[in-house]
Amino acid sequence: MPDLTEPTSTASRAARVLDRSDDRTEHWRDLYRDLHAHPELSGQEHRTAGAFAAELRASGLEVTEGVVGTGVVGLLRNGEGPVVMLRADMDGLPILEKSGVPYQSRYTQVNAAGETVPTMHACGHDMHVTALAAAVDTLAQARDAWHGTLMVVGQPAEETAEGARDMLEAGLFTAFPKPDVALGQHVGPLPAGVANHARELLMAAACTLDVTIHGRGGHGSMPYVTVDPILTAAYAVTRLQSIASREVSAEDPVVVTVGTFHAGTKSNIIPDTATFTVNLRARSDASMDRAIDAVRRIVGAEAQAARCPEPPTITVRENPPATVNDPALVDRVMAAQRAVMPEGAIRLAPPLMGSEDFSEFGLPKGRYPGEPVPYAFWFWGGMAPELFPAGYAVGFSASVPGNHTAAFAPLDEPTIAAGRRLMVAAALEFLG
Ligand code: ZN
Ligand code: ZN
Repeated sequence: MPDLTEPTSTASRAARVLDRSDDRTEHWRDLYRDLHAHPELSGQEHRTAGAFAAELRASGLEVTEGVVGTGVVGLLRNGEGPVVMLRADMDGLPILEKSGVPYQSRYTQVNAAGETVPTMHACGHDMHVTALAAAVDTLAQARDAWHGTLMVVGQPAEETAEGARDMLEAGLFTAFPKPDVALGQHVGPLPAGVANHARELLMAAACTLDVTIHGRGGHGSMPYVTVDPILTAAYAVTRLQSIASREVSAEDPVVVTVGTFHAGTKSNIIPDTATFTVNLRARSDASMDRAIDAVRRIVGAEAQAARCPEPPTITVRENPPATVNDPALVDRVMAAQRAVMPEGAIRLAPPLMGSEDFSEFGLPKGRYPGEPVPYAFWFWGGMAPELFPAGYAVGFSASVPGNHTAAFAPLDEPTIAAGRRLMVAAALEFLG
């Protein structure tokens, strides 16, 4: 295997490749606007995957579609050399778009519960697909300038944290080559044209716990013959807030959010059960394990205190690991990108408590057999610079509509062009 920690002088090569390639600006803008207007829910990305596969084929890649449903894998084998994996996620969210852009989504889909819901690319995955298709096209045009294997992954179901894991469990790195390095990027509420990197921890681990409190229902006038699951669940929800404030160090923060709470049908009926979901964020698997244990202990103790007839049911799902970059790769990616981006555009930034299942492709130890895959993942900006307040420095700004909001609307230009340049520079840094 080539030594991927040894810097090479590819910066000028990336500039040359970008200068001489046809950047096809209008084509990519049309693709982006079309994807933006047709967002598909996690696991239902048929149209998006088809469009991405068609672009990769047009660029000359061997393309496999239908990898665990809607996944896409493209390969460009270009002689001896490292395998460099580039990934874009493809799914949208069940949000009614209110961005006001002319190509705003009016699309709907049927969700897993059978309800028709409005859909929106509120996390920018349409931008990820477009920028990656454009970067791959540039690399394919310039295949005389590098050697190795380009492996392009169109990933379904990032928003449910299932897609990366499902692709790996279906044999992504055995049916296709195992990459020597993996690269990915996410658009966010940063000024258009900048990229934020972190040398190690970039994003937190996350998980969702489904909790059911089992009480004993009865008439609302006679609570003493019941075990009230609503009161018990309410105590549990309140006490769960003490995990972040009283059980963990401020130097290793966790976030505890109860995002749903459902119980009961009528004011004078005490129901049998109450259910709620807990979303946790932590900066390592070990901290996450401690937080999950704390939820189990607190919810279990509240149920016992209330004399529930059986212990609560608690199941853990959607638990991507923390995104921890390889610092040597990040240094190389930043140097390569600085050579093709304006001065000051490539910055280091503090980690976020958001999370990403891109981290699964790194095969973190304890979760996957085999050697981990070193990776670099970064954010790039898509927002008009004048939206940022005076004194804005480096992080996400609360004054700009962020990911997962109805007003999230990255500019198509210069964001696509910047995403293409950032990805081409990073990929060429590792291709021979
Ligand atoms: Zn998202
Ligand atoms: Zn996202």
